Amino acid sequence: MNSETIDREVVDVLIAGGSVAGVAAAAALSQLGLNVLIIEPGPAHGRRLAGELIHPPGIDGLCELGLLDRDLPLGSEVKGFAIFPSNLGADAECMILPYGEAEGKQPSGLAIEHTLLKERLLERVQQFPGVSAKIGARVTALEGDGPFTAVVSSAEGDERIEARLILGADGPMSQMRKMAGISHETQRYSGMMGVEVDDSYLPHHGYGNIFLNPVGVAYAYAIGDGRARIMFEVLRDADPKESIKTHLSFFPEVLRNAVEQNLTENKPLAAANYCIIPETSIKSNFALVGDARGCCHPLTASGITAAVKDALILRDSLRETKRDGQFDFTAGLRRFSRICGRLQLTRRTLAEELREAFLAQTPADLLLNQCIFSYWRNSKSGRVHSMALLSMLDSSIFSLAAQYLLVVLHVFRLLPHWVKEKKLSSWLNGVFKLFIKSLEFQQTAITQWLKA
Ligand SMILES: Cc1cc2nc3c(=O)[nH]c(=O)nc-3n(C[C@H](O)[C@H](O)[C@H](O)COP(=O)(O)OP(=O)(O)OC[C@H]3O[C@@H](n4cnc5c(N)ncnc54)[C@H](O)[C@@H]3O)c2cc1C
Repeated sequence: MNSETIDREVVDVLIAGGSVAGVAAAAALSQLGLNVLIIEPGPAHGRRLAGELIHPPGIDGLCELGLLDRDLPLGSEVKGFAIFPSNLGADAECMILPYGEAEGKQPSGLAIEHTLLKERLLERVQQFPGVSAKIGARVTALEGDGPFTAVVSSAEGDERIEARLILGADGPMSQMRKMAGISHETQRYSGMMGVEVDDSYLPHHGYGNIFLNPVGVAYAYAIGDGRARIMFEVLRDADPKESIKTHLSFFPEVLRNAVEQNLTENKPLAAANYCIIPETSIKSNFALVGDARGCCHPLTASGITAAVKDALILRDSLRETKRDGQFDFTAGLRRFSRICGRLQLTRRTLAEELREAFLAQTPADLLLNQCIFSYWRNSKSGRVHSMALLSMLDSSIFSLAAQYLLVVLHVFRLLPHWVKEKKLSSWLNGVFKLFIKSLEFQQTAITQWLKA
């Protein structure tokens, strides 16, 4: 590429990625009076499964940013979760966890088909003051060692764009992260396969139905227009056909029949589930937002809500630094990175603990699994606090550490059951492991507090 021939443009903010994280950040920064250019390659070749269920704090955030309107409903309302704990025995009752159990609160989330959500948000944000988008283009290089300049490539050629702030909102496999020289840890957990069926087959319409079983987690929820998304986890090295067969054996019969019928006619959509932890989320005039800044197992359905929170935190962090009409981007980004890092730690830890407990592959995990359900069945306050953590209404690692301890205390309630099953030594071993883990959580919480 001959740099002399590249056109040059200057903007306040350049955002690579026009999905949830990029659009939310654009809307948030437009509220600060900054001009924003979004670069989005456009619909990817072949659709993939991605986030559709949005918790109430995510919906509130999208409304606050002017990207959604509660009076103009889109998708399908979600009142909470209906969890089927099949690995506790076939007769275990479904556990209902509503968002709105706390006194006087009736919040609800939404589930919207991912492509539709993405299209609507991108369309809407382009009407905001100072926001424009180049569709059919992508950022292909970051030049310099910081501050960076972005090179944007499209069918018309290459263009160099200078920006006071460049955001990488290009998803979990972010190339922007690599271009900025930010390394990351990756763990691939599993794959996900999904189909659509009529939403009348759902056991609990208006809830995210979650089926737990030894081959992973399966989800079923309405996405609007009478349709429902059904997703199955396929663990690493597992045979997808066998996994789906096992998942279906835990479904109510009508839903199972509808999915089986669909699978004979259609090829399921697929996606991979990763945990990604970048070494940092900021470097010079560059910052990562959304999944590029880190993602975890989709079990907690918190990716979109986290992306919206990133945008709000970035806006508020920059706003705090405004003096004489000028923003101090360096100080603003540092504050953004600190706050988002804390939120992400809580979100990731919760997803990992729930995943291990729900898969229940060791006696300690099975004990934790039973403690969680015992806690939820016996404590309204436990359900309220758990849903606050799950929905990111509460992202404090202290709350997570406290809740973990309260859950683990249920081992004593479960003791007679484990004695009856002649598994006292497994119980003792599990109790030891869970209390050690709980101590580690308290330690992490205190370290966070000292750092803050
Ligand atoms: C199977 C599955 C189920 C999930 N379920 C849920 C759920 O129920 N609820 C939930 O909240 N979250 C869920 N998630 C997570 C959720 O999908 C993500 O957190 C969310 O989509 C993140 O949005 P994003 O904008 O950060 O990234 P993405 O949605 O991945 O968007 C990245 C964008 O960047 C663009 N791009 C890529 N490269 C470039 C480039 N070089 N230059 C410019 N643009 C570029 C892409 O075209 C794309 O539009 C799920 C994830 C998976 C895999």
